[in-house]
Amino acid sequence: MMTLRIAIQKSGRLYEDSVSLLKECGIDLRNVKDRLRTESDNFPLEVFFLRDDDIPQYVEDGVADIGIVGENVLFEKGKSVEVVEKLGFGKCRLAVAVPRAEAWSGIGSLSGRRIATSYPRLVKGFLAEHGVEAEIHEISGSVEIAPGIGLADVVADLVSSGSTLFMNGLKEVETILQSQSVLIRNHALDAGRLELLARLLFRIQAVKKAKRNKYVLLNAPNDRLQEVISLLPGMRSPTVLPLAESGWSSVHSVLSEDQFWDCIEKLKAAGAEGILVIPIEKMVL
Ligand code: ATP
Ligand code: ZN
Repeated sequence: MMTLRIAIQKSGRLYEDSVSLLKECGIDLRNVKDRLRTESDNFPLEVFFLRDDDIPQYVEDGVADIGIVGENVLFEKGKSVEVVEKLGFGKCRLAVAVPRAEAWSGIGSLSGRRIATSYPRLVKGFLAEHGVEAEIHEISGSVEIAPGIGLADVVADLVSSGSTLFMNGLKEVETILQSQSVLIRNHALDAGRLELLARLLFRIQAVKKAKRNKYVLLNAPNDRLQEVISLLPGMRSPTVLPLAESGWSSVHSVLSEDQFWDCIEKLKAAGAEGILVIPIEKMVL
């Protein structure tokens, strides 16, 4: 039987989120502990567990049909694959950091300096874009200790909270790339695999949408019902049910995260009471 082969990180920062995304898509995986390969009993999916750096190559070569990888790795490797969907996890940035005591006077001050990084291609592109020449020292791990041991004066490394830089006496001064995880695919998938990918993507989008939205229930006095309803965007229009107490209605709707607090404040001002907010598991429009 035809299966879709997906490459995900074997262990590390993307592992948990990648496996949970598949689970949330209703795809059960066997022997995840084994961590070489596994398959699903309820979806024609085969999972390969690999180092994240190798994933773009495997997908380009067609050893895997699709993969989950950070944009940082994808752009650094420069492989020829297609981005199917941004996944919203593994968020980080590739940033330039210098010793904290240094007075930073802009990108020009990188000129002639030694920059330690695991992302030579991205750093080279950034320097070229700003017309700056500097020496790039490629190291594969623990980039943040390079200035402390005299290997470089500057680093370009992945940052999420910034605490690792801080602990190593460095400060972030420029952002080279904002990154998150993406689903990538091989260019030349056959019709059968494209169909499986479309089914998977449909589920991923339903999970993503659900995470961005909340189900909201509230009570509103009937004389202000129209005002309350006008504040709710909803999928179509809100559901309105009469309460046992006359003169009041229960209103149900869906609110997206970015309009959430704003909307709740306006609803309260419009007389809404007993507002309940419930997470949504899947959302299919
Ligand atoms: P592997 O053994 O698979 O090569 P790794 O050591 O290269 O693992 P991890 O540290 O697990 O990789 O990071 C994997 C990805 O997680 C990064 O490429 C990046 O996309 C993302 N990420 C998110 N936040 C951070 C962060 N603060 N530091 C490093 N990577 C991060
Ligand atoms: Zn890696």
